[in-house]
Amino acid sequence: MVLGAERVPPGMKNKIREMLSEMGASEVKVFGTYGFTEARMAFAECPTSDPETYSGYHLYPDLAIFEVIDPNTGEVLPEGESGELVITPIAGRASTVFRYRTGDLVRGGIVYEPCPHCGRTTPRISSNLTRESSLTDLQLLKIKGTLVNLEDCAEILGGMSEIDEWQLELVKKDNDPLEVDQVIIHVALRDHADEATTEKRICENFKGRIEISPNRVEFMSLEGMLNKIGMETEMKEKRFLDSRPIV
Ligand SMILES: [Zn+2]
Repeated sequence: MVLGAERVPPGMKNKIREMLSEMGASEVKVFGTYGFTEARMAFAECPTSDPETYSGYHLYPDLAIFEVIDPNTGEVLPEGESGELVITPIAGRASTVFRYRTGDLVRGGIVYEPCPHCGRTTPRISSNLTRESSLTDLQLLKIKGTLVNLEDCAEILGGMSEIDEWQLELVKKDNDPLEVDQVIIHVALRDHADEATTEKRICENFKGRIEISPNRVEFMSLEGMLNKIGMETEMKEKRFLDSRPIV
């Protein structure tokens, strides 16, 4: 199964494999691709069999040139260093871009050694990307005095196999603009999962990974949840909702 648009955490790979195996599919491999409009193409990971292993995205130097730069100085960085991805497509059609700054940050940069999974010698960019498309006002949030990266929340919730769909909502206590922020996690469970156990696991995972716990976990039906996140009605599903009243 080839996925696009989002990072694919190991838990999500496992969940997809589990669901497909329930439907009779064996030997399922789940992997991600990295693409964006300006590139006019996408770059794929290797379909590794171990969900914990990421090969990085294979690049095609005859189609596009990637560079990693220091986002503050614009200086090109050496192999393996983290920075912002810059692309020059050399096989684009119609309007094209030159040394386009993607705004995407890559941890681990570009590597040139052969891929340990398929042996190809094309350069690879690390699978550990932070997409510009996920950078919103909500991306870094101070909750209860702790700076929280919402991508970490997405990875926790997206990776829990008992959760079917989820949304993180930010509210003010008693809907009072001067009160403290509160975090509510809305969840639709998969058939076999238990509410109390899941709530406990969510709180533990949040506490362990980002040092805060949600204020509440609320459960709803899958149908209600799909409506809430705007699945297939919005351009992009609403995983994070800021419902704090405007002062
Ligand atoms: Zn490979």
